[in-house]
Amino acid sequence: MNDLRILISREQIAARIAELAQQITKDFHGEQVLFVGVLKGAAVFLTDLIRQVQLDASYDFIGVSSYGNPRGPKQESIWDSTGEVRLTKDVEHSLRDKNVVLVEDILDTGLTLSFLKRLLLSHQPRRFCVAVLLDKPSRRKLAINADYVGFTIPDEFVVGYGLDYAEKYRNLPEIRVIPGVAP
Ligand code: 5GP
Repeated sequence: MNDLRILISREQIAARIAELAQQITKDFHGEQVLFVGVLKGAAVFLTDLIRQVQLDASYDFIGVSSYGNPRGPKQESIWDSTGEVRLTKDVEHSLRDKNVVLVEDILDTGLTLSFLKRLLLSHQPRRFCVAVLLDKPSRRKLAINADYVGFTIPDEFVVGYGLDYAEKYRNLPEIRVIPGVAP
């Protein structure tokens, strides 16, 4: 684990999440907000974020999986997503007329977020926003952006703080890079 270079330290993450929470608190002042985290990667980010937000907040989770994209360093030929995203767990309540913030770990090609945005907008929420901890704009395939971005990062495969490689490393308190991958 120590051979994995730290890209973003736990202190940097904590400081940035405090800023994001402050911004969200300001933007939704006096309103109720439902945070919807994307399993499993966003669970850590979501739980840290909502504890800093000073709003009448609740949360739920949604689950997706991508066909043909087992996620790993991109020297593996299977790195790129085929673009097929499938729902594995739906939200438990209707989002109709609610203020919804979708919380995702990382925005990469944009396929997952585009799928989820289309799905959740069909519930007809009052307001819909997206918060991502990490953004890799260089790999975007679909034109989609997040309203709240923790950090913009280069084209590297990262783990930690909820992000995994074959289910490992999710519990690392910082964001680290899996080596041997050219940006
Ligand atoms: P997208 O659909 O935008 O291409 O990818 C979003 C999903 O791909 C994320 O939720 C995450 O599960 C996975 N992903 C993309 N880049 C990385 C990365 O660098 N590290 C890890 N662990 N997962 C990634």
